[in-house]
Amino acid sequence: MPGTELFGAEERKEIMDVLETGMLFRYNHDQQRNGIWKAREFEAEVRKITGAKYAHAVSNGSAAAAVAMAASGVGAGDEVIVPPFTFIATIEAVLFIGAIPVFAEIDETLCLSAEGIEKVITPKTKAVCLVHMCGGMADMDAIMNVIKKHNLVLVEDAGQAFASSYKGISTGLFGTAGSYSFDFFKIATAGEGGIFVTNDENVYKLADAYSDHGHNHVGHNRGMEQHPVLGFNYRISELHAAVGLAQTRKVPQIREANRKHKKALTEILSKTEGISFATIADPDGDSATFLNLLLPDTESAKRTVDEFNKAGIGGFNYWYTNMYHFINQWDHLKEMRTASKLPVELLGSPQDYANLYLPKSQEVVGRLISFGIRCTWTDEEVKALANNIATCVKKAMLAATV
Ligand SMILES: *Cc1c(COP(=O)(O)O)cnc(C)c1O
Repeated sequence: MPGTELFGAEERKEIMDVLETGMLFRYNHDQQRNGIWKAREFEAEVRKITGAKYAHAVSNGSAAAAVAMAASGVGAGDEVIVPPFTFIATIEAVLFIGAIPVFAEIDETLCLSAEGIEKVITPKTKAVCLVHMCGGMADMDAIMNVIKKHNLVLVEDAGQAFASSYKGISTGLFGTAGSYSFDFFKIATAGEGGIFVTNDENVYKLADAYSDHGHNHVGHNRGMEQHPVLGFNYRISELHAAVGLAQTRKVPQIREANRKHKKALTEILSKTEGISFATIADPDGDSATFLNLLLPDTESAKRTVDEFNKAGIGGFNYWYTNMYHFINQWDHLKEMRTASKLPVELLGSPQDYANLYLPKSQEVVGRLISFGIRCTWTDEEVKALANNIATCVKKAMLAATV
């Protein structure tokens, strides 16, 4: 979680600007706020890094994903193709806008594959919600071909891929709309926050209104503003935006450090038998927040995890058994345990979520171990970690041959 490693004077300064005026609300009150507009500045900084024409800050990345889908016209009864490997927020966003998640296979990019998407298309498929996992990106050329061929809406949950790109284009900007998360675990944090991005003015206007009870934000009298659509409250506060702003300014520096560390780790570990790496569709665009190791099979990955634990090596994720990132543990979804009835329960799904057959995703996630890269590591720490990882993997591989 690199952003949080660099929390300091810059974040405090931005927060103090807000506290001095007491204007914690992002809209209106022009006199009282004395020129302080942190949400706007946060959005401008995100536009600068991503090249997005429009960016809109909201309360969190889950909300940003839901807003991206709603503003792209995805809603009740629409089938949305999603990956089985993602933070559960993606699936919740689809369900709570009233749409129907349809799971497709991922590949070694850790993201949906073009082939996987094509296999689950039905006449009711409206959209693909592509998730760029672990700081990397999907194989966009192949995916855009499928999107165009079948005339689908593309929405990107780039929740954990802010500042990553594919062939010079930021993740989040390939489809109609995209989203980033600025929660505590991402490359930059706002405490809680999310950003919606698009290059389409109409989609932006819809998102802007939808995320604030329909307000069109024209004029100086909030109570008299027009409301082109019904919406909800997904607003960010000025305090959170202030933190997000200071953190976003640090992202180029964080990304550079991450890349350097990831390169060093990769160089050392590529010499270790049993270790390969997740595919990075465009290595030049990697935000390098994770080093993603692929072991030969699930069993050797599990043994490697045991060796890491025995050796006291932390800082890694074995997503295969994670409760929130992989479908195997999503029994609440499989049994449709909900607080109140969702549209999918009335409309039905083309898939039985309790009995999905996704062998490729099972294989890839079973083999995957991801290390979070820290931007503040020293070269010595990087080397020591690489050697420790190599030692553990060697032990785990030996155990296989006994
Ligand atoms: C973190 C994350 C989210 C959710 O973001 P929050 O800000 O925690 O709501 C959504 N999608 C993905 C892929 C994420 O990694």
